[in-house]
Amino acid sequence: MPIDATLPYDDSNIFARILRGELPCRKVYEDEHVLAFHDINPQAPVHILVIPKGAYVSWDDFSERGSDEEIAALIRAVGKIARDQGLVAPGYRVLANVGLDSHQEIAHLHIHIFAGRPLGPMLA
Ligand code: 5GP
Repeated sequence: MPIDATLPYDDSNIFARILRGELPCRKVYEDEHVLAFHDINPQAPVHILVIPKGAYVSWDDFSERGSDEEIAALIRAVGKIARDQGLVAPGYRVLANVGLDSHQEIAHLHIHIFAGRPLGPMLA
């Protein structure tokens, strides 16, 4: 079910539980502000989720309430992960769903990294 990204943060979401160590993940990268792990249901040969450790519902929430340090850390982490995974030359896609029409399902901001095959044109 897609979530309403205007609702307050609810720390019962799956990614909050992963951050608290209550659920496992296949970790790709971690630093003070960021955790990245493989998507459980990959839509491409490489499908990594990059999340802030802070409690943010969506990209919208993060861009409004996130500190400059957290925002820089997330953006730099996405780039570093892509470089470290060898994705830059073949190419990759970065995507964040926000709210109902985008079909955001988990109410904790997550950036998708897709790669590993030609991804085709963007969906409208
Ligand atoms: P959204 O549609 O919210 O942008 O994407 C949510 C993503 O989270 C989906 O690609 C889905 O496969 C992934 N996902 C859902 N539950 C889990 C989980 O428990 N672990 C991991 N690693 N990914 C999950």
